[in-house]
Amino acid sequence: MTEIKRRGLIIIHTGEGKGKTTAAMGIALRAAGHKFKILMMQFIKGTWHYGELDAVKQLYPNFEIVPLGKGFITLGDKMPDPKDIQIVEQGWNYCKERIISGKYDIIILDEINYVIYYKLLPLEKVLNVLKKKPESLHLILTGRSAHPKIIEIADLVTEMKEIKHPFNKGVKAQKGIEF
Ligand code: ATP
Ligand code: MG
Repeated sequence: MTEIKRRGLIIIHTGEGKGKTTAAMGIALRAAGHKFKILMMQFIKGTWHYGELDAVKQLYPNFEIVPLGKGFITLGDKMPDPKDIQIVEQGWNYCKERIISGKYDIIILDEINYVIYYKLLPLEKVLNVLKKKPESLHLILTGRSAHPKIIEIADLVTEMKEIKHPFNKGVKAQKGIEF
Protein backbone atom coordinates (compact mmCIF):
# COMPACT_ATOMS: atom_id res chain seq x y z
CA MET A 1 0.00 0.00 0.00
CA THR A 2 1.39 3.42 -0.88
CA GLU A 3 1.71 5.82 2.03
CA ILE A 4 -0.46 8.91 1.71
CA LYS A 5 1.49 12.13 2.40
CA ARG A 6 0.73 13.23 5.91
CA ARG A 7 -1.30 16.36 6.46
CA GLY A 8 -0.84 17.54 10.04
CA LEU A 9 -4.16 18.38 11.66
CA ILE A 10 -5.12 20.90 14.29
CA ILE A 11 -7.52 19.03 16.56
CA ILE A 12 -9.61 20.48 19.38
CA HIS A 13 -11.35 18.62 22.19
CA THR A 14 -13.56 21.04 24.05
CA GLY A 15 -16.93 21.19 25.87
CA GLU A 16 -18.23 20.62 29.37
CA GLY A 17 -18.40 16.83 29.30
CA LYS A 18 -15.70 14.39 30.38
CA GLY A 19 -13.28 12.88 27.86
CA LYS A 20 -11.20 15.70 26.39
CA THR A 21 -7.82 14.76 27.82
CA THR A 22 -8.41 11.01 27.74
CA ALA A 23 -9.51 11.12 24.07
CA ALA A 24 -6.25 12.92 23.24
CA MET A 25 -4.35 10.16 25.06
CA GLY A 26 -6.36 7.59 23.12
CA ILE A 27 -5.04 9.08 19.87
CA ALA A 28 -1.55 9.09 21.35
CA LEU A 29 -1.83 5.40 22.27
CA ARG A 30 -2.98 4.54 18.76
CA ALA A 31 -0.19 6.58 17.19
CA ALA A 32 2.45 5.13 19.54
CA GLY A 33 1.65 1.80 17.90
CA HIS A 34 2.85 3.31 14.63
CA LYS A 35 6.05 4.43 16.38
CA PHE A 36 5.03 8.07 16.18
CA LYS A 37 6.85 10.44 18.49
CA ILE A 38 4.35 12.08 20.81
CA LEU A 39 4.66 14.79 23.41
CA MET A 40 1.88 15.83 25.76
CA MET A 41 2.30 19.07 27.65
CA GLN A 42 0.01 19.68 30.59
CA PHE A 43 -0.72 23.28 31.40
CA ILE A 44 -2.74 22.40 34.47
CA LYS A 45 -2.33 19.45 36.73
CA GLY A 46 -4.86 18.29 39.24
CA THR A 47 -4.21 17.22 42.80
CA TRP A 48 -4.13 13.49 41.99
CA HIS A 49 -1.26 11.34 40.81
CA TYR A 50 -2.42 10.44 37.33
CA GLY A 51 -2.01 6.84 36.14
CA GLU A 52 -0.93 7.97 32.69
CA LEU A 53 2.26 9.50 34.08
CA ASP A 54 3.44 6.00 34.98
CA ALA A 55 1.85 4.23 32.01
CA VAL A 56 3.66 6.36 29.43
CA LYS A 57 7.04 5.51 30.95
CA GLN A 58 6.60 2.16 29.23
CA LEU A 59 6.21 3.93 25.91
CA TYR A 60 9.17 6.27 26.35
CA PRO A 61 10.73 7.74 24.19
CA ASN A 62 7.80 7.43 21.78
CA PHE A 63 5.31 9.04 24.16
CA GLU A 64 6.31 11.54 26.80
CA ILE A 65 4.25 13.69 29.18
CA VAL A 66 5.67 16.95 30.52
CA PRO A 67 3.74 18.70 33.31
CA LEU A 68 4.06 22.48 33.02
CA GLY A 69 1.61 23.70 35.61
CA LYS A 70 2.07 23.95 39.35
CA GLY A 71 -1.24 22.41 40.35
CA PHE A 72 -4.62 24.03 40.58
CA ILE A 73 -4.31 27.55 39.34
CA THR A 74 -6.60 29.88 41.25
CA LEU A 75 -9.23 31.10 38.87
CA GLY A 76 -12.55 32.79 39.09
CA ASP A 77 -13.66 36.38 38.72
CA LYS A 78 -10.38 37.70 40.03
CA MET A 79 -7.58 38.96 37.80
CA PRO A 80 -5.12 36.16 36.98
CA ASP A 81 -2.25 35.90 39.43
CA PRO A 82 0.99 37.32 37.91
CA LYS A 83 2.87 34.25 39.21
CA ASP A 84 0.52 31.95 37.27
CA ILE A 85 0.94 34.07 34.15
CA GLN A 86 4.70 33.70 34.47
CA ILE A 87 4.48 29.90 34.87
CA VAL A 88 2.22 29.64 31.83
CA GLU A 89 4.46 31.93 29.80
CA GLN A 90 7.54 29.84 30.56
CA GLY A 91 5.56 26.70 29.72
CA TRP A 92 4.40 28.22 26.47
CA ASN A 93 7.95 29.15 25.43
CA TYR A 94 8.92 25.53 25.93
CA CYS A 95 5.92 24.33 23.87
CA LYS A 96 6.69 26.77 21.11
CA GLU A 97 10.24 25.49 20.83
CA ARG A 98 9.05 21.85 20.75
CA ILE A 99 6.39 22.60 18.13
CA ILE A 100 8.82 24.37 15.82
CA SER A 101 11.57 21.75 16.40
CA GLY A 102 10.00 19.36 13.88
CA LYS A 103 10.98 16.44 16.13
CA TYR A 104 7.43 15.25 16.89
CA ASP A 105 4.56 13.64 15.03
CA ILE A 106 1.91 14.61 17.58
CA ILE A 107 1.92 17.28 20.27
CA ILE A 108 -0.91 17.53 22.78
CA LEU A 109 -1.39 20.87 24.52
CA ASP A 110 -3.53 19.71 27.41
CA GLU A 111 -5.86 22.33 28.96
CA ILE A 112 -4.45 25.10 26.79
CA ASN A 113 -7.98 26.27 25.90
CA TYR A 114 -8.61 26.84 29.56
CA VAL A 115 -5.48 28.95 30.13
CA ILE A 116 -6.30 31.05 27.07
CA TYR A 117 -9.89 31.51 28.29
CA TYR A 118 -8.66 32.75 31.65
CA LYS A 119 -6.20 35.11 29.97
CA LEU A 120 -3.14 33.45 31.41
CA LEU A 121 -1.82 33.13 27.86
CA PRO A 122 -2.46 35.62 25.05
CA LEU A 123 -4.51 34.16 22.19
CA GLU A 124 -2.39 35.91 19.54
CA LYS A 125 0.77 34.14 20.70
CA VAL A 126 -0.90 30.76 20.27
CA LEU A 127 -2.43 31.62 16.89
CA ASN A 128 0.96 32.75 15.55
CA VAL A 129 2.58 29.44 16.45
CA LEU A 130 -0.34 27.35 15.17
CA LYS A 131 -0.10 29.10 11.81
CA LYS A 132 3.58 28.26 11.41
CA LYS A 133 3.62 24.72 12.82
CA PRO A 134 5.48 22.07 10.77
CA GLU A 135 3.17 20.79 8.03
CA SER A 136 3.24 17.15 9.11
CA LEU A 137 2.70 17.80 12.84
CA HIS A 138 -0.67 16.89 14.36
CA LEU A 139 -1.51 19.26 17.20
CA ILE A 140 -4.22 18.52 19.74
CA LEU A 141 -5.56 21.27 21.99
CA THR A 142 -7.79 20.30 24.88
CA GLY A 143 -9.83 22.13 27.48
CA ARG A 144 -13.20 23.75 27.98
CA SER A 145 -14.16 27.00 26.30
CA ALA A 146 -11.99 26.76 23.18
CA HIS A 147 -11.59 30.20 21.62
CA PRO A 148 -13.64 30.77 18.41
CA LYS A 149 -10.51 31.97 16.58
CA ILE A 150 -8.72 28.70 17.33
CA ILE A 151 -11.82 26.73 16.32
CA GLU A 152 -11.77 28.67 13.06
CA ILE A 153 -8.29 27.51 12.07
CA ALA A 154 -8.70 23.94 13.40
CA ASP A 155 -9.37 20.96 11.11
CA LEU A 156 -11.15 18.71 13.59
CA VAL A 157 -13.21 19.99 16.50
CA THR A 158 -15.11 17.80 18.93
CA GLU A 159 -17.29 19.09 21.73
CA MET A 160 -17.80 16.72 24.65
CA LYS A 161 -21.35 17.09 25.87
CA GLU A 162 -22.29 16.09 29.38
CA ILE A 163 -25.36 13.88 29.59
CA LYS A 164 -24.61 12.57 33.08
CA HIS A 165 -21.63 12.77 35.40
CA PRO A 166 -21.38 10.75 38.65
CA PHE A 167 -19.99 13.86 40.40
CA ASN A 168 -23.51 15.32 40.28
CA LYS A 169 -24.78 12.59 42.57
CA GLY A 170 -21.84 12.91 44.92
CA VAL A 171 -19.71 10.05 43.58
CA LYS A 172 -16.02 10.79 44.15
CA ALA A 173 -13.40 10.61 41.37
CA GLN A 174 -12.59 6.99 40.53
CA LYS A 175 -9.07 5.58 40.16
CA GLY A 176 -8.37 4.60 36.55
CA ILE A 177 -11.29 6.68 35.27
CA GLU A 178 -10.48 10.15 36.51
CA PHE A 179 -6.87 9.81 37.58
P1 ATP B 1 -10.65 13.43 31.27
O1 ATP B 1 -9.27 13.83 31.73
O2 ATP B 1 -11.23 12.43 32.20
O3 ATP B 1 -10.72 13.07 29.83
P2 ATP B 1 -11.59 16.09 30.69
O4 ATP B 1 -10.23 16.36 30.18
O5 ATP B 1 -12.70 16.12 29.70
O6 ATP B 1 -11.61 14.71 31.45
P3 ATP B 1 -11.35 18.34 32.46
O7 ATP B 1 -12.16 19.53 32.11
O8 ATP B 1 -9.90 18.36 32.15
O9 ATP B 1 -12.04 17.05 31.84
O10 ATP B 1 -11.60 18.03 33.98
C1 ATP B 1 -10.79 17.16 34.70
C2 ATP B 1 -11.55 16.33 35.68
O11 ATP B 1 -12.84 16.82 35.96
C3 ATP B 1 -11.78 14.88 35.20
O12 ATP B 1 -11.41 14.05 36.24
C4 ATP B 1 -13.23 14.75 34.94
O13 ATP B 1 -13.82 13.52 35.27
C5 ATP B 1 -13.82 15.82 35.80
N1 ATP B 1 -14.98 16.32 35.06
C6 ATP B 1 -15.07 16.49 33.73
N2 ATP B 1 -16.29 16.90 33.39
C7 ATP B 1 -16.98 17.00 34.54
C8 ATP B 1 -18.31 17.38 34.87
N3 ATP B 1 -19.15 17.74 33.93
N4 ATP B 1 -18.68 17.37 36.18
C9 ATP B 1 -17.79 17.00 37.14
N5 ATP B 1 -16.53 16.64 36.91
C10 ATP B 1 -16.13 16.64 35.62
MG1 MG C 1 -8.71 17.58 30.71
